[in-house]
Amino acid sequence: MPATTTVVVGAGHNGLAISHHLAERSIDHVVFERGRVGHSWRTQRWDSLRLLTPNWMTRLPGHGYDGDDPDGYLAAAQVADFITAYAAASSAPVRSETAVTAVRAADDGFTVSTDQGEWQARTVVLAAGITTCPLPPLAAALPAGIESITAVDYRNPGQLPEGGVLVVGAAASGIQIAEEIHRSGRPVTLATGEHVRAPRRYRDRDILWWLDAAGILDERWDRIDDIVRARNVASFQLAGGQRTIDLNALQAQGIRLVGKFAGIRDGNAQFSGSLRNVIALADLKLDRLLDTIDVYAGGHGERLEPTRVPDSPLLLDLTSGEIRSVVWATGIKPDHSWLELPVFDPRGRLRHSGGVVDWPGLYVTGLPVLRRRRSTYIDGASADAADLTTHLAGHLSGRGSDTTGQPEQTRTT
Ligand SMILES: Cc1cc2nc3c(=O)[nH]c(=O)nc-3n(C[C@H](O)[C@H](O)[C@H](O)COP(=O)(O)OP(=O)(O)OC[C@H]3O[C@@H](n4cnc5c(N)ncnc54)[C@H](O)[C@@H]3O)c2cc1C
Repeated sequence: MPATTTVVVGAGHNGLAISHHLAERSIDHVVFERGRVGHSWRTQRWDSLRLLTPNWMTRLPGHGYDGDDPDGYLAAAQVADFITAYAAASSAPVRSETAVTAVRAADDGFTVSTDQGEWQARTVVLAAGITTCPLPPLAAALPAGIESITAVDYRNPGQLPEGGVLVVGAAASGIQIAEEIHRSGRPVTLATGEHVRAPRRYRDRDILWWLDAAGILDERWDRIDDIVRARNVASFQLAGGQRTIDLNALQAQGIRLVGKFAGIRDGNAQFSGSLRNVIALADLKLDRLLDTIDVYAGGHGERLEPTRVPDSPLLLDLTSGEIRSVVWATGIKPDHSWLELPVFDPRGRLRHSGGVVDWPGLYVTGLPVLRRRRSTYIDGASADAADLTTHLAGHLSGRGSDTTGQPEQTRTT
């Protein structure tokens, strides 16, 4: 059986950033990728998707955006090309078309099974992304004749039948998809639970420029009061481009807002009556965020209008033919079903502390707010990969290490 020191599962930007740091430390490793480098960006994004982060934030260890539009927003295919160029420039030892099918404990580390054979490794880094969007149980209760599709499988409005569309979820994916479908001429109803509002620009700068400059993206996972909540919070209502597309903008275009999709009874969709509250909460949180920016910058900027609270129905007859399809933009999840180790909590979540999994020699990267708020974005990969490979090197040398990602001898805080 072939052996290596570290197996990295997944050749997205996070797996490649880990590979970069392992190579810098001369740690022998191999990166298994079930498809091609940047597979998620080629196969799991809708056609019109652009990053909501500006190009200058597309930076990885030793590699960054070097085009002539630093304030623009890359399309998904451009992100795939960027990641592919990174793999080539860093000569990452990627084995494409090799899916990891099981990781098990072995005497000195792990046995990693792939569809191309088994490997032995002392350490494993899970960089398999967040790639599954399971259909919620409610989908099974939809009346016959209403089509369901998840945001991961959605490509463009042409996939949907003519007629009304219910988009469920008002985070970045849901609002972008709702707007695009509405533009295709299909009437759209958007089911809106807790969401996070943001202006595209504030005080003449991109909002992400402020989050970066004010240090908000650098807040560490172990300093955040409720990290489980922070990791599950919806993404900012942002889209690549110069416009703000918040709920006011969507309503002005003619998209109907309803509350959270709570159930189906007697053929009626039931929506929560909490829409007013979740809108008030999102406006309040936005004000707090902009207050933080104002404290950092001094002075005050112009704020968005409060979100208009619509008079929304609580029931919608799904048997009337008005709604012909449902797009579930209810969040994506990691798939670690091939991990045959007791490292999951009762809710099926991987037990880890800042990416250091509760099993010696096992690491995870690429999850939202993994080690800092920046981890949610491509831009977080550099610091996270540096921290995790430091910890991994400490584990290999037998020096021991804590869960902050720094071996104990070099810990400074
Ligand atoms: C809709 C959407 C919009 C986004 N927009 C932004 C944005 O605007 N700005 C930004 O910075 N980031 C954005 N992100 C990216 C987000 O930062 C990344 O999805 C996240 O950080 C994970 O990156 P990754 O490299 O870990 O995973 P991925 O890029 O998903 O890479 C994981 C790789 O692992 C492979 N893999 C999975 N399972 C296996 C297996 N069993 N065996 C072998 N290979 C496997 C996959 O094929 C894939 O290539 C967006 C993500 C999504 C889903």
